[in-house]
This record gives sequence, structure tokens and C-alpha cells, in this order.
Amino acid sequence: MTAIRTLPMAVPASGLPGRVRIHEVGPRDGLQNEQAVVPVEVKAEFVHRLADAGLTTIEASSFVHPRWVPQLADAEELLPLLSDVAARLPVLVPNERGLDRALALGAREVAVFGSATESFARANLNRTVDEALEMFRPVVARARAAGCFVRGYLSMCFGDPWEGPVPLERTVSVSRRLVDLGCDELSIGDTIGVATPGHVRALLTALGEAGVPADRVAVHFHDTYGQALANTLAALEQGVTTVDASAGGLGGCPYAKSATGNLATEDLVWMLDGLGIETGVDLDRLTATSVWMAGRLGRPSPSRTVRALSQKET
Ligand code: MG
Repeated sequence: MTAIRTLPMAVPASGLPGRVRIHEVGPRDGLQNEQAVVPVEVKAEFVHRLADAGLTTIEASSFVHPRWVPQLADAEELLPLLSDVAARLPVLVPNERGLDRALALGAREVAVFGSATESFARANLNRTVDEALEMFRPVVARARAAGCFVRGYLSMCFGDPWEGPVPLERTVSVSRRLVDLGCDELSIGDTIGVATPGHVRALLTALGEAGVPADRVAVHFHDTYGQALANTLAALEQGVTTVDASAGGLGGCPYAKSATGNLATEDLVWMLDGLGIETGVDLDRLTATSVWMAGRLGRPSPSRTVRALSQKET
């Protein structure tokens, strides 16, 4: 007997959105944190395949100085190879110089990358939180003046490897300041993966009370301790409809003691399919893309869903 293909039965649950926009971070956050440096042609094919799989927002690259992120040093070569991609293609810009480079290539969406904690601001940006926000101020203003949609990433929103648990008020106050700078969307990052669902609910509630509603917030969970999907469900129950994920679970986190980092897009789509929530993503095409990419990187995908779906039936 031949086994039939396993798929989740779609059983909608109450109190959840009908549709979720996945903000795919594999080509940027994923590849930035992989050891291997991937040729630009492979990156271009990766983005095309992700778009073909139905992803509508694909963070393509970063205009951070190549010395800091050699994996993404080819952003200038990559973007012209993506001119036929219909998806939104945000790029990370650390400062005005990065913004100039992105705008020169016709970028329509940019993201700045801040930290809720002083320790990580110092480690990642070599600045205080205040100094980082001041650096972003002209970037956000000029990007908006150029008609760009601006995303503000906030790292270490739940826990920090040097400071431990991060107080809610701390994350809320830095979030509020990023929104006040003019960010259209805020991505709340659990960079070391220590959040749990009650913590997620409490933070989103506090953000709402501080004037940052769930429709302005995206969640960026890491699966270091296996909590990313539980945290995602908690966020959806609070009204969040934008979820960050990385195809195949690409990209660990250099600040967490684990190879497991970003929530895998396939694991997310499996859950959302099961909840009857629309994403527009074709799970088979996406899984095939991650298996292909794993071959380019020379290591298997850490995604449970990729592993299960790509296993040959015997
Ligand atoms: Mg990440």
C-alpha cells in the first residue's frame, strides 16, 4: 500500500485572524547567520523560488558594511537580479550611508535594527540605545520622504544574554520611541528564544496600552527552546497578523547557545494551514526550496516540517 501524503486537517479556531502575512527573513536574517557564504546567483534563485512558493514579503539583503556581514556583501549585485520579483523586498539599512545605497538601487522598503537593551546595542551597534535611536532618526525620516515603508526591528525584547530577563517597560519604551521616529511597523524580536506565551501576551497588551496596536506589530520568534509556535499562537490571539519566519529555519543566532534560531517558515505554515488561516504559501514548493537550499549550504534543514515532508516514503 502506498501511504498518502500527510497534511494537517484545517480546523479553524475562534479568536484568530483569517489571514497572516509572513515576512520571510531567510535571505537576510537566515543567510547572515549561516557560516557558508552563498554565491549571488544562488541567492537570486532562492528569492525567486520563495516568491514562486507564494511568499509576498521577502527580506532580500542588508546594506550593513560588508566588514560586519560578509555573507551579505553582494547586496548591490543581488537587487538588480530581483527586478522581476513581484513580492515586497525590504532591505536592512543601518545608517544613512546604507539608506543611500538602498535607494540608489530602487528599494521601496527598508528596515532599521535596534535593541531594547543597552548590552546588545553596545555589542551589535557599538552604541547606547539612545545613540542608536538618534542614528536611525534621519534614516527613517529620509526613507519615508522617499516613499519607503519603514520597519523597525527591536532585538532582545524578552531576554538578553548579558542582562537576563528584560522588563516589559523597557521594551515598551524603546518600541514607542521607534514608532515615534516614524516606523510604519515594529518587529518584536525574541533574539535568544526565551519568550513563553504568557510573556508574549503581557508584552503585546502593554504595547497596546502604550499606543502601539497589534496591527502595527510583527513578531519575530526564535525556536531555541522550542517555544516559537506557542508564542506565535499567543500573538495571533492578541491580534497580530504579521509573523517573521525563515525558510527551512535558516540562520542560528550567534548570541544564543544553540544552532536553532529563526522559526522555520514551513513549521509556521503547517500550523496556520491547520488553523485554516490563509497565507498564500504552497507548502510543497516551499519545502522543496528549503531542501534545495540545504544542499547549497551542505547541511540539513533544522525544520521539523521540512524533515518530515521531505522524507521518502518506503
Ligand atoms: Mg532572527
